[in-house]
Amino acid sequence: MADSTTPASAVRCDACGADRVPLMKLSLGKDFFGRTYDRLSPSSDASPKWYCESCSMQKNLQRDFRDIKAEIDKLGGGQTSAVTAPDQLQRAHLRLREIQALLGSQVSGARLIDPADVTTLLQRVQSRAGSASAST
Ligand SMILES: [Zn+2]
Repeated sequence: MADSTTPASAVRCDACGADRVPLMKLSLGKDFFGRTYDRLSPSSDASPKWYCESCSMQKNLQRDFRDIKAEIDKLGGGQTSAVTAPDQLQRAHLRLREIQALLGSQVSGARLIDPADVTTLLQRVQSRAGSASAST
């Protein structure tokens, strides 16, 4: 039994339920900011899940989106945040734009992220990034 390929029987995408498509096992080990990842699928290391290509892409986007949103929320609440550093904020900004573009081209699979939420967060990051660069 090869473990680098899709198992032969009874495996479907854990997000949208698609079968008869190529599946990949996602290991969600580190978050966007390089920290140990434990939010979306706390038991993911013990029981890896399988996703089709479309959902695995979205699952990665969802993970980064939630990481960035949590940090922006902290920043908005006056707490220390991973995006306090301007370069990290810029990185988050670019990633959100990428997420928005990728969601816009998404045509199949489950919809794991609401594009409206990405737009809202992007606007919040843009206003932060604007004030950060103006103060240097
Ligand atoms: Zn799927």
